[in-house]
Amino acid sequence: MLGRSKPEPKADVFTEGSSMKSVSAGATFRLIVSFMLAVILAFLTVEGWRTWRDYRSAFASARDSVTNLARATAQHAEDAIRQVDVLTTALAERVEGDGLQSLDAARIHKLLVQQSKIMPQLHGLFIYGPDGQWIVTDKEVTPDPANNADRDYFQYHRTHTDRNVRIGDVVRSRSTQDLIIPISRRLNNPDGSFAGVLLGTIKVSYFVDYYGDFKIDDKGALVLATRDGTILVRRPFIASVVGQSLANSEIYKRYLPNSDEGIAEVKAVVDDTERLYGYRALTTYPLVVEAGLSRESIIAPWRRDLIKTGLVLFFLMAVFTVFGLIVLSQLRQRMVMSRELRRAHQSMREMALTDSLTGLGNRRRLDNALPHEIRLAQRQGSPLSLIMIDVDYFKRYNDRYGHAGGDDCLSAVGGAIQQAVKRPGDLAVRYGGEEFTVLLPNTDSAGAAQVAEDILRAIRSLNIEHSEHPLGKVTASAGIATQLPGIEDVTPASLLKSADACLYAAKQSGRNRWYATDDAHLLT
Ligand code: GH3
Ligand code: MG
Ligand code: MG
Repeated sequence: MLGRSKPEPKADVFTEGSSMKSVSAGATFRLIVSFMLAVILAFLTVEGWRTWRDYRSAFASARDSVTNLARATAQHAEDAIRQVDVLTTALAERVEGDGLQSLDAARIHKLLVQQSKIMPQLHGLFIYGPDGQWIVTDKEVTPDPANNADRDYFQYHRTHTDRNVRIGDVVRSRSTQDLIIPISRRLNNPDGSFAGVLLGTIKVSYFVDYYGDFKIDDKGALVLATRDGTILVRRPFIASVVGQSLANSEIYKRYLPNSDEGIAEVKAVVDDTERLYGYRALTTYPLVVEAGLSRESIIAPWRRDLIKTGLVLFFLMAVFTVFGLIVLSQLRQRMVMSRELRRAHQSMREMALTDSLTGLGNRRRLDNALPHEIRLAQRQGSPLSLIMIDVDYFKRYNDRYGHAGGDDCLSAVGGAIQQAVKRPGDLAVRYGGEEFTVLLPNTDSAGAAQVAEDILRAIRSLNIEHSEHPLGKVTASAGIATQLPGIEDVTPASLLKSADACLYAAKQSGRNRWYATDDAHLLT
């Protein structure tokens, strides 16, 4: 015989349908939450990616800008100096050809005036003798004393024989007090001895004006410096910065030794500002230009955009979240309501299948279970027994003790039957009136007889007084029908009929006993 460790599920369509509904409501809830999270995540990812792309593109365009600026300022410086270089080369040729002693000062002066008018960068043109004395200039007046022998460039050319143009550090002009960059070259006598110096000076203001025309932010910087790091011109222009050294700056120390042109993000030594610099060493002259845009100016528009987008995104997310939470709370309410409804329905269903007097199942419960248990037993090849119990002389009991007393007695008998039924799969019901049935799955006739005997003994043991009973107390009789494995034509009606027949036989043979199709017992 097959074991029956737990009760077979009852055919309860409503309960199964309800659990399906509850699963789908829970799944909907999770689906909505997942959807909301996915939308929020997608928004954040897209915006994050866009923000990152904007940040990179801000820097990419800043790199282009500083590269272009560095090229433009380098070209400008180179052109300005080359013009003076070319001019002084021609002048030197002429002066040396004429000889410094036999120079036609008036004619040369006129020439110098003419040339300096043509070139806007030019501050002045000067010819000094071997002792530093002014010989000819483009100026109308000669200051007193007019001697430049103390100037750095003069001393350099007196002691160096090279004929190249020399770009000196910024000095203040003796004739006009302007800041100027001296472009000088040595003059030789025919025998190669030192004859003097030819000097062209470029106004620092010429560069300052040019650099001022560029549209860069307040913290941007444009610098023209010598190759050894001395600042000649800078925007923003502060006179005290001119002459300062950049030799220890990162661009001079780390970048320029490796490459004449490039981009570097560094902190400026002059004002401690972080900038993205384009730098470039001039090809012809020992000069370097640097064009820097402050990190702040590059990031500021991006940051403004980020804040605006962030606020809009935050607002949208908040609206979306609030909306989602409302939907979720409504869904939750519906779930709670449907769960309560389901419970109410279930308890109504339970009530409809329960006998209110005894608390046992009622006849409808047996009618539901019996066909199912019969089929199951046939499928599993296991026996199925049904015990039908009827209280003896109950009409007399009612007559003697009243209907309410009869109800109390039936309630006690129901309790005794329930207690005598041990297995979880066994089903005890009040079939009607003072009749009860017990359905015993997987139980053969011997097992059922044992249960019937237990039940009848339990009822008797209640010791309920019954003065109209020959034994003086309440007893019951039982009929047992068993469906044996292999017999296929058993129906609920035939099983009930067979148990009823046995019960009738038990009654006929004297009551207070059980009767099976092939067996009868008198309880003593
Ligand atoms: P037997 O020993 O042959 O079974 O005799 P009996 O008197 O028990 O059988 P009978 O069928 O003649 O009487 C059953 C009685 O049970 C009739 C009715 O008064 C009583 N009865 C049926 N249902 C209820 C009920 O719900 N409450 C009460 N108090 N009595 C009931
Ligand atoms: Mg009866
Ligand atoms: Mg009876």
